[in-house]
Amino acid sequence: MTLLDGKLTSKKLRARFAEQVRSYEETYGKKPGLAVILVGEDPASQTYVKNKELACLEVGFYSEVHRLPESTTQEELLELIAKLNADDKIHGILVQLPVPRHIDEVTVIEAIDPKKDVDAFGYASVGRIMVGNPDFLPCTPAGVMALLDEYDIPVEGKNAVVIGRSNIVGKPQAMLLLHKNATVTVCHSKTQNLADITREADILVVAIGRAKFVTQDMVKDGAVVIDVGMNRDENGRLCGDVDFDAVKEKASFITPVPGGCGPMTITMLLQNTLTAAKNAAK
Ligand code: NAP
Repeated sequence: MTLLDGKLTSKKLRARFAEQVRSYEETYGKKPGLAVILVGEDPASQTYVKNKELACLEVGFYSEVHRLPESTTQEELLELIAKLNADDKIHGILVQLPVPRHIDEVTVIEAIDPKKDVDAFGYASVGRIMVGNPDFLPCTPAGVMALLDEYDIPVEGKNAVVIGRSNIVGKPQAMLLLHKNATVTVCHSKTQNLADITREADILVVAIGRAKFVTQDMVKDGAVVIDVGMNRDENGRLCGDVDFDAVKEKASFITPVPGGCGPMTITMLLQNTLTAAKNAAK
């Protein structure tokens, strides 16, 4: 079994991005810029935003974080997005989800200029992903593909099973695997005989949000197992959707949690921002 090391892969990719940022700055006299907006005080969101800010600084981006109070109105948020859309220091805009209940998530995401939609959640970005001509790849699924690539794991012709069909992970993950010519099955909470399907998977991507849900008997010998899940176990420790200790005995490759998909997601956000900056300069 080989570990798919998201930390190490991220480090390599970020070093490459830092070089590209230096040459971008030399050519255009400015840095790629990312604006992150956080509304409210959700502790998990605060951590994610802090990590994004640190990652931006690590590769030499210009970074703005707008921390807004929970009481911010939708109108105020839309005004800020309009300002950032028009700001040429800013190439990527990200609104940390979830937003408070009185704000409509879709309206907010749709207000971001598609050229700056580095999370790739807007309808225009989703459409482009669907037809296989994306400006930006959705960060978590793109991180999975980058890990497969880094470890030279073939995708073409393989049976890929994705558990989870969320708009931010499962569905776009299926699309990215399909575009790489895998035969893709998407499973969800209404899927019958789930284990029969997962046992056929050469590549199994799990994005459910249930601690240690995928057990050894659900995995084929030699499968590549990618665990997107981030949960707390009974002792409060971070763990994935896969029972790592048991499944690693059967898998050929497996991601750890933490240190697998998590760091890759932020790395892909950096990649998208760099792409946005390059596109803006064209
Ligand atoms: P989500 O929106 O809650 O979607 C969960 C999906 O899992 C749904 O499609 C659901 O099916 C399916 N599901 C739930 N129980 C199931 C079961 N018993 N059998 C089969 N399918 C089941 O979650 P998400 O946003 O995609 O996130 C999934 C996990 O990934 C979470 O742990 C989250 O924290 C993590 N995550 C990690 C990263 C990262 O950077 N590493 C990024 C995003 C998310 P239905 O559609 O039928 O309800």
